[in-house]
Amino acid sequence: MATLKGRTALVTGSTGGIGEAFARALAAQGCNVALNGFGEAGAIEELRAGIARDHGVDVVYGGADLANPAEIERMIVAVRARLGSIDVLVNNAVTRHYAPVEAFPVEKWDQALAVNLSAAFHTIRLTLPDMKKRNWGRIINMSSIHATNLVRERVDYMTTKAAILGLTKAVALECAQTGITCNALCPGWVLTPHAERQIARLMAEKSLSRALAIEELVSVRQPSRRPIMPAEVAALGVYLCSDAAANISGAALPIDGAWAVT
Ligand code: NAD
Repeated sequence: MATLKGRTALVTGSTGGIGEAFARALAAQGCNVALNGFGEAGAIEELRAGIARDHGVDVVYGGADLANPAEIERMIVAVRARLGSIDVLVNNAVTRHYAPVEAFPVEKWDQALAVNLSAAFHTIRLTLPDMKKRNWGRIINMSSIHATNLVRERVDYMTTKAAILGLTKAVALECAQTGITCNALCPGWVLTPHAERQIARLMAEKSLSRALAIEELVSVRQPSRRPIMPAEVAALGVYLCSDAAANISGAALPIDGAWAVT
């Protein structure tokens, strides 16, 4: 896609899962990429070098803890110095905790607000000035089916995934007369390391095969009865970066095998 060739993307939480798929998909379009997220240093370096080699683009890693606004700011300055100003921003990193509201640890709540919501506010406020100068930018915020379809014992996740839709709309409105769009993606059940942990748990609990565990997990969620692949989510994001998507802004786009209609 000519639109993305030579541009720069920052994908938060891209050391695995959907973020990694985003990094690969953007690199495949000729976009230079800044990775971010936690993990083992050797594995991250392998990922960084592999994406650069496979797609002939520059890939850097910024290990900022997104719970810390000063680290976010330092990372964005460093990415700008190494790859140029950020044109595509994917706010993808996430933290999750499971507990009833009254037992929810306060520090886990604060962490979720910081990583899942405030970090996106900070990355957006810090990258928008450069996007505005160039009158081009694409901001993609990862929300979830759980912004709207509710589930117990996930107050951190549901609250932050709903709130990020508000942030998305506020930014889209302020940027409406520019070449910058801001959208949210709301996936259903995606086959990521997080899903793999759910699969492994169910296989152990019920002595199920992997295929049966996936069937059980997906059948109570997605009418499609198919898990969603990280690359499908990233492909929707890449479409949002195209010229054809220039008038899609402020949207919360489902990619959930019809889960939201249930
Ligand atoms: P994941 O759990 O596999 O990865 C999360 C990433 O965030 C990792 O790279 C991790 O290191 C990083 N991260 C966590 N805390 C961080 C911090 N403080 N600072 C920097 N990085 C941090 O995530 P996933 O399952 O691929 O989900 C990606 C996004 O998609 C999330 O926003 C999630 O809410 C959304 N989503 C996922 C699913 C799903 O089925 N997996 C469904 C709907 C929405």
